[in-house]
Amino acid sequence: VDLIDTKQGMRKWRQRVLGNVALVPTMGDFHEGHFSLVRAAREAADTVVVSLFVNPTQFGPHEDYTRYPRDLDRDAALARAEGVDCLFAPAAAEMYPTDHETYVYWPRLGSLLCGMTRPTHFRGVATVVLKLFNIVRPHQATFGRKDGQQVILIQRMVEDLDLPVEVMICPTVRDPDGLAVSSRNRYLSMSDRSQAVGLYFALSAAKHAIERGERRSDRLKEIMEQTVAAYSALSVEYVEIVARGTLEATDSIDEDTMIAVAVGVGSTRLIDNLWVVQGKKGLQVEL
Ligand code: AMP
Repeated sequence: VDLIDTKQGMRKWRQRVLGNVALVPTMGDFHEGHFSLVRAAREAADTVVVSLFVNPTQFGPHEDYTRYPRDLDRDAALARAEGVDCLFAPAAAEMYPTDHETYVYWPRLGSLLCGMTRPTHFRGVATVVLKLFNIVRPHQATFGRKDGQQVILIQRMVEDLDLPVEVMICPTVRDPDGLAVSSRNRYLSMSDRSQAVGLYFALSAAKHAIERGERRSDRLKEIMEQTVAAYSALSVEYVEIVARGTLEATDSIDEDTMIAVAVGVGSTRLIDNLWVVQGKKGLQVEL
């Protein structure tokens, strides 16, 4: 794996590459979720570039930017083992010189769901992803469905700004008990970790209800809220049933539905979601 930490170095490296390039944007602290994106990228393209950048502009003033896990040596070794061709790991000052001023954002989509409590988060995401697209110039880019709102917004940006990038969405990778793998799971104490799985059980309960034929959003919300209530360490930030196109709440579910949940566990915030899609025999749930 080639380790590159400047934009100019990345551009030069890119110029020498023939064939298709797939980009996997990450904040590092690699786990199985990241590796699944790398594997999908490798299937789609000849060359895989992984970016590793803890993006300061997507953290709020009182969020975990400074304590976010960082271990470049570990990540470089893991990237090498996964057959990543290039690891682009710039410093914050390289990506954001002091005179940086331009941002892209989604005024409506970025203010809903996670945007309610993280008002500047998605503006940071949009800006850094657009910058990474311009520096790496990938043909494809892979994102995890785990961050459901994020991937929906990036697809919106690619369409709205006519970006020549194919967005690929990868399924959520979970621990054996069901909890979605995440760098933030590291913050959980042992007892919080055992409670965190309630987030997955709430979505599972909704999945089973949908499979039994339930279509009403209020009923599904009730089922999820009841499930979470059994886990005393979880505090619900939101449980929303929305259309993936607009992120607007819907009264009943269909093949465009996302059910998104955010909870607090101690000082840690966790999110998860399920997508309802059209299957061969009617609606199907992807969790
Ligand atoms: P992060 O490093 O947390 O910013 O995540 C980088 C990419 O990995 C994003 O596209 C995430 O959606 C994706 N990702 C994170 N966790 C998972 C997971 N458990 N399953 C699938 N993709 C994930």
